[in-house]
Amino acid sequence: AAAAAHSAFVAVRPPGHHAEPDGAMGFCFFNNAAVAAHHARAAHGLARVAVVDWDVHHGNGTQAIFDGDGRVLVVSLHRVGKHFFPGSGLKEEVGRGGGAGATLNVPWIQAGLGDADYAAAFELVVLPVLREFAADLVLISAGFDAARGDPQGRMALTPAGYAHMTRELLALPGAAVAAVLEGGYDLDATAACAEAVLRAMVDDADAKG
Ligand code: ZN
Repeated sequence: AAAAAHSAFVAVRPPGHHAEPDGAMGFCFFNNAAVAAHHARAAHGLARVAVVDWDVHHGNGTQAIFDGDGRVLVVSLHRVGKHFFPGSGLKEEVGRGGGAGATLNVPWIQAGLGDADYAAAFELVVLPVLREFAADLVLISAGFDAARGDPQGRMALTPAGYAHMTRELLALPGAAVAAVLEGGYDLDATAACAEAVLRAMVDDADAKG
């Protein structure tokens, strides 16, 4: 048997979170995080999986795939606005049928937000919902296009902000954490922020032995 790991980072291209059940969209062909969530349940028997999508664009594909499924919690923090892709992800979108309440959108209506804004959203909204849901696995749809300098996102997250969010997810009791790369259009910022996420995971692994 392979050694157990508490966290992992998947540096995959192309990204996946815009891919819907029946179609490619927004540079995405297959929804990597959604495939991972399905696999975790079907092959490894995990009961509850959460996807936390901090890519600056709404994870419409992931939301569509798990819209009616209450055993996969889909959380997305993203910009919304008249001219901002893809246009979905309003806070009123909360899931349907058996999935009602298992979709959580944090739509930002302005550009320029940074570490403190994301930390506050985590503290006040995202983490309480995640603690209540009690996932066995948290998949991060880890786009880095909300990083300072990204030409598409025009937000202001720094590597420290991504590390903070990673540590908060790693601290959730009973949950393994795997980050899957999504968007990121300033390569230096993407690299620096991905490194910060990896360092947070390595530090956590060292602390947990
Ligand atoms: Zn994006």
